[in-house]
Amino acid sequence: MGQEADSLLNDVKTARASFEQEIAQVDTPEQLDQLRIKYLGRKGAVAGFFSRLPKLDPAERPAAGNAINQLKQFVTKAIEEKKRSLGSTGPRKPVFDASLPGTPFRIGSRHPLLQVLDEIVDIFASMGFSVETGPEIERDYYNFEALNIPPDHPSRDLQDTFYLEGDKLLRTHTSPVQIRTMEKQRPPVRMIAPGRCFRKDTPDATHSPTFHQVEGLCVDKNVTFADLKGVILAFAQKLFGKDVRIRFRPSFFPFTEPSAEYDFSCPMCGGKGCRVCKYTGWLEISGAGMVDPAVFGFVDYDPEVYTGYAFGMGVERIAMLKHMIGDIRLFYENDIRFLSQF
Ligand SMILES: [Zn+2]
Repeated sequence: MGQEADSLLNDVKTARASFEQEIAQVDTPEQLDQLRIKYLGRKGAVAGFFSRLPKLDPAERPAAGNAINQLKQFVTKAIEEKKRSLGSTGPRKPVFDASLPGTPFRIGSRHPLLQVLDEIVDIFASMGFSVETGPEIERDYYNFEALNIPPDHPSRDLQDTFYLEGDKLLRTHTSPVQIRTMEKQRPPVRMIAPGRCFRKDTPDATHSPTFHQVEGLCVDKNVTFADLKGVILAFAQKLFGKDVRIRFRPSFFPFTEPSAEYDFSCPMCGGKGCRVCKYTGWLEISGAGMVDPAVFGFVDYDPEVYTGYAFGMGVERIAMLKHMIGDIRLFYENDIRFLSQF
């Protein structure tokens, strides 16, 4: 082998060894690019070796050319691999910057209906009412019969009530809890029953097939309509402020006699009339009355000894008034933009 060829092959070998050392120390794409130019560039090492080929004996050129090509392939491949490894661990890797503000996350809160329900329960608890609960799947007996609602009463209509198998149904009001409580407890009874109720209502701005009621019941000796008025007034003033007045209008319910609807004076306008109270100065809240003696018959209370009053209210209605919400469906759509306002 000629001296030229020997020296060229030796240089190729040395170049490969020093390339291996250099690429091991590369850790930025800029350094890698410089290395690429050094070896593969137009004036780089590989090009330099090729330019020496013509000086070789023609017989020795193929072997030398082959050695240079192997070096070229080795360098090319090593640089591509390094490029990939730098790509995954290099500057594109997310850098943790401890000085940046943290990622905010949402803190949940009580549903506005539950907040209002809690408030109602707290007010009555402060007046000595216990909190009772009953099943949402109720028997016909408790939902209707024992509340003096006869089989032909319109509120039993298939169009109003979700009937289940047998004598089961989804309770249409929280009143059955009155019966269940009186069955297991002798007077005096002073209770409220907050809970979910169901009716076949088509959803609109003021109707929802699911809604919440709070039922109240007080039974003892010498309980009068005046006691009912006192409790409703105290409740109204704790909920909407001490200037709120109440009024009762005659009405009819099967389980109370006499029965009344009760209204609060509009807290938005002080009774002068506004959009919320439809310019009447009054807000209809719900019904109340003295427990019908027939109901006492179902739970074995002596109507000659005991009297009682009962009242109800819709939680959605009160929440809508308290927060000036115009559409009951907002409570059930669970839109975070609505819920996060409370
Ligand atoms: Zn008003």
